[in-house]
Amino acid sequence: MRVNSVPGAGGSISIALILCLSVFALASMAQAASVSHPGGTDPSPEIQVVPASHADRAEARDIFKQLIEINTTDTPQGSVTAGSEAMEKRFLDAGFAREDVLLLGPDARKQNLVVRIRAAGPATEKPVLFLCHMDVVEALRSDWHTDPFEFVEKGGYFYGRGTQDMKDSDAALVATFLRLHREGYKPKRDLILALTADEEGGKFNGAAWLVQHHRDLVDAAFVINPDSGGVELDHGRAVVADVEATEKVYADYQVTATNPGGHSSRPRPDNAIYELTTALNKLAVYTFPFELNEITRTYFQSLAAQETGQTADDIRAILATPPDPAAAARLSVEPSFNSNFRTTCVATRLSAGHANNALAQTAQANVNCRIFPGHSPEEIRQQLIGVFGDNRLTVKYVSDAGGISDTAPERKAMAPPAPIKEVFEPLTRLTQAIWPGIPVTPVMENGASDSIYFAQAGIPSYGYSAIALERDDDRAHGQDERLPVDSYWKSLDFFYAFAKELGGTAVQH
Ligand SMILES: [Zn+2]
Repeated sequence: MRVNSVPGAGGSISIALILCLSVFALASMAQAASVSHPGGTDPSPEIQVVPASHADRAEARDIFKQLIEINTTDTPQGSVTAGSEAMEKRFLDAGFAREDVLLLGPDARKQNLVVRIRAAGPATEKPVLFLCHMDVVEALRSDWHTDPFEFVEKGGYFYGRGTQDMKDSDAALVATFLRLHREGYKPKRDLILALTADEEGGKFNGAAWLVQHHRDLVDAAFVINPDSGGVELDHGRAVVADVEATEKVYADYQVTATNPGGHSSRPRPDNAIYELTTALNKLAVYTFPFELNEITRTYFQSLAAQETGQTADDIRAILATPPDPAAAARLSVEPSFNSNFRTTCVATRLSAGHANNALAQTAQANVNCRIFPGHSPEEIRQQLIGVFGDNRLTVKYVSDAGGISDTAPERKAMAPPAPIKEVFEPLTRLTQAIWPGIPVTPVMENGASDSIYFAQAGIPSYGYSAIALERDDDRAHGQDERLPVDSYWKSLDFFYAFAKELGGTAVQH
């Protein structure tokens, strides 16, 4: 996850643990959860999620410890390859076929690992891909109470960089794949685990590289990405499970004003700083158009039922056709609502001038945009040019790797489809078996993850970690990152059962 929490909205509006707005379950999903027995007569089967054995837990803990203690930051000390190779060894030692454990990538220190459990017999459906990034954000020993690259268990928590983002899920999925293999599991379709580089930053994003250069290795019916979504705890009580079903597109733009400059004792009518700040002030008061998609509409429909008073009235008014602009404006005062309603662009950095007594020759700002699905970065670049309305300015695109280009990508994140039952039905059922009674809901993430590369390639991606965290204990990217020990075990049990549900059982001939 590249971007962290939205501030809590307070009141009865729940904000999910990672980024997303949370809502109560879709009625249709609740129904889906109760009709899971194919051909069966029991409308509400009792689902058993059997806790992993002592030995399976010990292995999963050992993998987690090993991954935390391998520095995978994008720094001279870090190596994703070291982490990938350690996992490669585990799979090969466990008897996975060489051709099903592939170490590959465009950079020696950024090797990805792609592991496959093959369907027993001819696959009857496209594979399922579990996508897990292996890199972590830098952590300084001096900022922490423990060594961030030492796996420490104390007070019911595992401490270490990556315990929340996302070596917890990396380890749980590695352990799950090893266990499935050990047990001789025979799925009806391939299960793929991709452990990837440079999600948090860096020039060699493994998810994008795999999709673009080795689509055959990661092609899937859908992706499960545990880098977002999860179970929100309120003083230990599970409240809601969020599943990221779509996300906004991240884009940076470099806005530049230039000027011949000169001596500051002789100001001239044109001035780079004033031109830039005038443009930014126009952006400050500009609002991108209000939009809804399948996911956010569902969210707000559900929220309307929970809310009361003016907020509930306003939500109903934005769901009407046409939406009520006054209601949208009132709700948009809350930043998390606003981000769910539209593309947002905001100036995040500023630099100008070269001396106190000289007219600036260059004034430059970074404008960071979070683009609503369905629009391309180039479309937004053109909109920014229109908002600024000053052809003396240049508006260039800044890629994730820091490259500057005159135009931005035309590719847009697809507007999300309705959540697919094949994923949400078992996900809901298993989640509710572990955390009884909690609603499960699809959400639109305002931040960004590697899911976007698969969404852009036409492969739907769902973000769900099955990690339960206190609302106020999101420490991803922060100091003293930690995970409740119990949350790790529950996610382990979830992914084992979920992988088997998604993989199905091969028909025996
Ligand atoms: Zn992450």
